Amino acid sequence: MSTTAHSMLLETPNTPLVPRAIDLPDPTGHQVLLRVLACGVCRTDLHLVDGELPNPKLPIIPGHEIVGLVVAAGPNAQRFRLGDRIGVPWLASTCGECEYCRTSRENLCDDAGFTGYTVDGGYATHALADERYCFPIPQGYSAVDAAPLLCAGLIGYRSLKKAGDSERLGIYGFGAAAHIVAQVAGWQGRRVFAFTRPGDTDAQSFARDLGATWAGGSDETPPEPLDAAIIFAPVGALIPYALRAVRKGGTVVCGGIHMTDIPSFPYDVLWGERTLLSVANLTRADAGEFLALAPQVPVHTETTAYPLAEANEVLARLRLGGLRGAVVLVP
Ligand SMILES: [Zn+2]
Ligand SMILES: [Zn+2]
Repeated sequence: MSTTAHSMLLETPNTPLVPRAIDLPDPTGHQVLLRVLACGVCRTDLHLVDGELPNPKLPIIPGHEIVGLVVAAGPNAQRFRLGDRIGVPWLASTCGECEYCRTSRENLCDDAGFTGYTVDGGYATHALADERYCFPIPQGYSAVDAAPLLCAGLIGYRSLKKAGDSERLGIYGFGAAAHIVAQVAGWQGRRVFAFTRPGDTDAQSFARDLGATWAGGSDETPPEPLDAAIIFAPVGALIPYALRAVRKGGTVVCGGIHMTDIPSFPYDVLWGERTLLSVANLTRADAGEFLALAPQVPVHTETTAYPLAEANEVLARLRLGGLRGAVVLVP
């Protein structure tokens, strides 16, 4: 085994990632060392690079949709065998002791670690992870196709659960998470109404291809009132639009880690027992449920793979918008 790993490292927010060789770390405790096969690119990575997330570890290797092979294990790591193909999601560790951890809400843990944010992630040839927060990758998915399941899929699924028992579901922002959630929602018998940037007819036809009942611009009124809506786009101005699109008693779920400020809006937009909430992180239970569900649907991820060395170019394209499905880096 080579003793050097290669990474794309963020030294300071608002600067490009730099290629950097790092010593191959030895796993300790419950850690496993993975040879990275693929790492998905999430909008959260862009928020990190753009300095929109508070207090990242710096320097940091981004990336929290890691699919890799176990190549070494710490003394307490017994869950996987060498050669197993496993996934590493955003939730890297929890304290296990705070009131959230003790009440099945470890996604809200006061002292959680996050992959590619507070601990190094998967924009690299190798990555360390605590095996207790990793998951076997379902068979039938290539490493590239499985990578987006690990955040776009998991946190998208948690957002979908928060949307409740809604038959008419709006989705604002039709990127990596939406393209997975739309498939699960359709399989559950919901009808999906997809909202894209105004005029983005490519994204609208992509949404229809994935079974959306209707697709239009985020400034449009859907043809019928919605029971719930999920906002994946990091745009606070969409909240009043989504609240207006849902019926009385409807729910609007904000599925992203960062949003621009929400403009003020009249109370009658929220009135009528509408609910507005955010989704934060994931629990391991979410991951277990979703990774069991994905092959049943089956969720088909639409992915484009790029070499790890092109991470900066890929992030620039994500910033501009217009990418179809999910993008994945391959070392
Ligand atoms: Zn905790
Ligand atoms: Zn993510």
